[in-house]
Amino acid sequence: MFAELHFLERFQSMKSNRNVTRRKFIATIAATAAASYVARPGMSYAIGGGRGVDETTLPWRDQGVLNLVNSPYAKLHSVPVRAVTIEEGFWSKRRKINVERSIPTMREQLEKHGRMDNYRRLVGKSKEPQKGPVYSDSDIYKWIEASGFALQSGDIPELRSRAASMVREVVAVQESNGYLNTYYIEDKVSQRMLTHSQEVGHELYNLGHMIQGGIAYYRATGDSTLMDAGTKMIDGFLLPNFGPGPDKKPIVSGHPEIEMSLIELYRTTGNKKYVELAGYILQGDDRMGLEKRHTIYMYSGTLFTERARLEGHAVRAMYACCGATDYYMETGDQTYWKTLNHLWEDLSQHQMYITGGVGARAAGEAFGEPYELPNAQAYGESCAAIGNMMWNWRMLAASGEAKHADVIERALYNGINSGMSLDGTLYCYRNPLAFDPDSGETIRNPWYDTTCCPPNLERTFASLPGYFYSSSKDGVYVHLYDNSTLDWHLDNGTGLKIAQETNYPWDGDVKMTVMPAQSADFTLFVRIPGWVKGAKAAVNGKGIDGAQPGQYLAIKRQWKAGDTVSLNFPMPAQAVASNPLVTENRDRVAVQRGPIVYCLEQLDQPNMPATDRRYAGIEPTGRPRVSRRTQERSAWRRHGVTSQRPGSGSVSSERAAVYAGRHGRSETPRSRSDLNPVLRMGEPEADTDAGVVHVCASLRQRDACRR
Ligand SMILES: [Zn+2]
Repeated sequence: MFAELHFLERFQSMKSNRNVTRRKFIATIAATAAASYVARPGMSYAIGGGRGVDETTLPWRDQGVLNLVNSPYAKLHSVPVRAVTIEEGFWSKRRKINVERSIPTMREQLEKHGRMDNYRRLVGKSKEPQKGPVYSDSDIYKWIEASGFALQSGDIPELRSRAASMVREVVAVQESNGYLNTYYIEDKVSQRMLTHSQEVGHELYNLGHMIQGGIAYYRATGDSTLMDAGTKMIDGFLLPNFGPGPDKKPIVSGHPEIEMSLIELYRTTGNKKYVELAGYILQGDDRMGLEKRHTIYMYSGTLFTERARLEGHAVRAMYACCGATDYYMETGDQTYWKTLNHLWEDLSQHQMYITGGVGARAAGEAFGEPYELPNAQAYGESCAAIGNMMWNWRMLAASGEAKHADVIERALYNGINSGMSLDGTLYCYRNPLAFDPDSGETIRNPWYDTTCCPPNLERTFASLPGYFYSSSKDGVYVHLYDNSTLDWHLDNGTGLKIAQETNYPWDGDVKMTVMPAQSADFTLFVRIPGWVKGAKAAVNGKGIDGAQPGQYLAIKRQWKAGDTVSLNFPMPAQAVASNPLVTENRDRVAVQRGPIVYCLEQLDQPNMPATDRRYAGIEPTGRPRVSRRTQERSAWRRHGVTSQRPGSGSVSSERAAVYAGRHGRSETPRSRSDLNPVLRMGEPEADTDAGVVHVCASLRQRDACRR
């Protein structure tokens, strides 16, 4: 298959933009390397108000992102966020800024836009009118969740105090029957949980986020006040009135979220009725009489196990899949497991961008048809990429299969990481893979009236240490790489520390020092990323076989303190072609190096002609099946620009190079393009030295190259 590195990029003169920050999104043209990735076939209780907390589960301090210790169908168990310290390296800056700037400034934004006044008004402490859409309460809860995860990594007194005060103001408005919502009040009380309200009103969505926020804060501080408020709303308002039985009203999750939160509430309180309610919601309540188009959009309201594909609203679908996977891990229901795996195949083969983003269509913020993955028009909501990561975290726990960790890494480094500016104060709602600033759209903003994405990004980065490792009955799994220290224990209680030293993701050498409290026989499952070719592994300097891409390398031995594991993941820049059925990417490739996907930005291309708005088309070594001129015209019409001819330069992907001998033209290099990690798309010049890839325009080169 010929593949063309064909960046749909416009170039404009920067002379007019001298006063603009170099890569500022608004003023520059940022385009992602044409890029869609489609896998080919084959290819205990506690201090604080902790009533109702299960004494048979782990102490609150020891619970991870998910508390899977008693989940019978979870192969892997979470390691608490506080057990992993991420040290100076790739993620440390992002996480520092997240805590020092993003979370505090987001709280200010929430205050400025009246989201807390919505609560204060109900207890006579504010005269401001209700502000924000029906789901505005959830933004407060996600902020509390982000703070909770941040506090799980260590106390930050000011943040804890802010979060505690917010929790107090929230629970102050809870009604005696447990109902808590700042939208369906006063003249809207009569609309609570009506059929239509359940479809569009987000009452259960808000409740789900209240529970998740409450759990994260509880796991940070032992204070279960907010979690208890969620429990009270379920026990006092929801369960007595809604659910199975002739004396109760039907229930639907208009925006899935409640399902996974109910199951995590069960994992924290031990009360199985929450799993049962989640199961009831997942099977759909026939009494609702919902239209099919609504159950498609909501990804809810019909039997989950009859779902055949991902469709409808992408965040809803991802959150529903999270809830269904959680339900499987508690019940072992094989029909769920079969459905989930079928849907995962649909995700990885038809519906996922190379960035791990999902949800191609702006209309309905939805999944498109299989292989419908446009670049400039990509929707790719930050929340959907996060939902993808959250779902794959659950699939990984259920299966122990590294293909899920591959998706987590892809989404985390690219589709999620691109969602927040490096300074931590601007956020993407949509994450296109090609962008024309002349469209007038501003991609990164400090605030959205629907501000679901910013606190979602914040809670994800704050919870990140919890995604590095898992434990199992056989040993410990290593999922992610960065300078870090694990201080935890095996499932049998033997203390274990693991130190990682690496410059990942900029280079692929990782050194791990394993320090069990005493010599112990267990397996260290080391993830070999799916993008690696020729991975090498050694224990105490002695090479070991069996490192296969997209698998965990199982190293079973008697481990003793000071044993080392060395990993080498070669990281040439790779040209990645998508399935040819992704028509917009036909004869194009994207550039990826390690887990990072790259983008081409005008500002990095001083040698490219800018005045005539030509763009860089980096040609394949082989002859495209469709004439270039035809492709360009169709592509450029779509972008509203005409082009005389493509820019110069060629690159060969490994596969394209196979054809070079037969079809390739002899051509000398004419230009070089510098590519920037997609996560830095549109960012200021500072802080961009590491990781820039230079794609050399050489027909004979097997891969894109790096300086
Ligand atoms: Zn969002």
